[in-house]
Amino acid sequence: MTAKLSPADLTGYRAFIDRVDQFCHTISSDYASEIACKAGCSRCCLHISLFPIEAAVVAAALAELHGETLQLLADRIDRSGDDPCPLLVDDHCAIYQSRPLICRTHGLPLLIESDGVKRVTFCEDNFQGTATLPGSAVINLETLNSTLTALNCRFAAENLPGADPSARVTIAEIIKSVIASEDKI
Ligand code: SF4
Repeated sequence: MTAKLSPADLTGYRAFIDRVDQFCHTISSDYASEIACKAGCSRCCLHISLFPIEAAVVAAALAELHGETLQLLADRIDRSGDDPCPLLVDDHCAIYQSRPLICRTHGLPLLIESDGVKRVTFCEDNFQGTATLPGSAVINLETLNSTLTALNCRFAAENLPGADPSARVTIAEIIKSVIASEDKI
């Protein structure tokens, strides 16, 4: 299920995204010579699923696209698993300005915890000449996810009463729902 949005629904989310974008921009600027990420590289763009709040943001962005572009996206949605994200068009994101939170961190150092073990991960093409990174250059994924979860729970309570706020929606499902609801193609 994908909720319809009013701008007020997203005030907190937008402020959060702005802060994340600023942090990512600072890392990218401070380590510009160590970061190989560039427009046209889409290796991080795997097919993901999203919380209802981000599914609604993506759906709203898709609804703004031309029918031809939606048709193009519809042709890709039989992909699944780790296949490329169906929103990739010629290695560029079709909804770049509205891309989900995790997409904004692509390639940058992420602190992740698995089975009680913390480690930092980033694109193998980045930081090849860097032996260590300060904490100020590392994005704490747990912190991002906690904040997103809180924003999503509030959004779901207000916009999707009775629905499971943790139920994730794949990008392909979002594309299908937009095409079905808007009769765009
Ligand atoms: S939404 Fe855009 S940035 Fe995110 S994985 Fe898909 S194509 Fe890449």
